[in-house]
Amino acid sequence: MIKAKNIYKNFGELEVLKDVSFEVQQGEVISIIGPSGSGKSTLLRSLIGLEEINSGELFIEGISVLKSGKKAYEKMGMVFQGFNLFPHKTVMGNLIEAPIVVKGEKKKKVKNRAEKLLKKVGLYDKKDAYPAQLSGGQKQRVAIARALAMEPDIMLFDEPTSSLDPELVGEVLTVIRDLADENITMLIVTHEMGFARDVSDRVIFMDHGRIISDTVPEKIFVNPESERIQNFLTKIL
Ligand code: ATP
Ligand code: MG
Repeated sequence: MIKAKNIYKNFGELEVLKDVSFEVQQGEVISIIGPSGSGKSTLLRSLIGLEEINSGELFIEGISVLKSGKKAYEKMGMVFQGFNLFPHKTVMGNLIEAPIVVKGEKKKKVKNRAEKLLKKVGLYDKKDAYPAQLSGGQKQRVAIARALAMEPDIMLFDEPTSSLDPELVGEVLTVIRDLADENITMLIVTHEMGFARDVSDRVIFMDHGRIISDTVPEKIFVNPESERIQNFLTKIL
């Protein structure tokens, strides 16, 4: 599904991604963890084309991002830390906008799909509400439904719960957990270590722009080999 080979990304003098290589297979759930500034967001943003990489190769479902960016990016949906909903549109309006405008789909068909997605994230009764009328957890569930409305093959999450009040984190993680059970391919940057351990097939640990570990969760959380990972986990848990 995703193949990244020797990716480098600089911001001016600053090397933010250094020789990053990894692969993601269909249906895999990968958590990306690591200290602040280690390049996690930049990695996701590079995958979906919000950042241009300086060198390396990136394939999404066999399509080279460098050669045919747009086509590759359309296969992915992303949910950010903040709630990037359109404030002047209702919940339903938020969900149907991109499929109609970007993909040229028929409104009726999209609305149908949007209703199902809102039921899935438990917000069908809020379909006519505006974002300002929703809690943080609800907004983030709408953001997830909105990304899914584009029927992506791959979902990217960048700290989807880190701007939520603690009591709202669970409802968002539950939605993501359900998606994991449905075999949707997902990359999740998170500081929720319990969640990462439960839900992931693999955990990637990043530090200073490099992947320093890419392995099954048990190896990271139960028995971390590297001192760097041990230190990080004792600080965060
Ligand atoms: P956090 O856990 O705090 O979200 P992160 O692992 O997501 O951190 P990134 O946001 O990818 O880290 O940032 C990696 C490095 O790149 C940081 O040093 C950051 O300051 C720098 N950086 C990120 N975006 C830009 C930008 N647009 N211009 C210049 N530097 C940037
Ligand atoms: Mg980040």
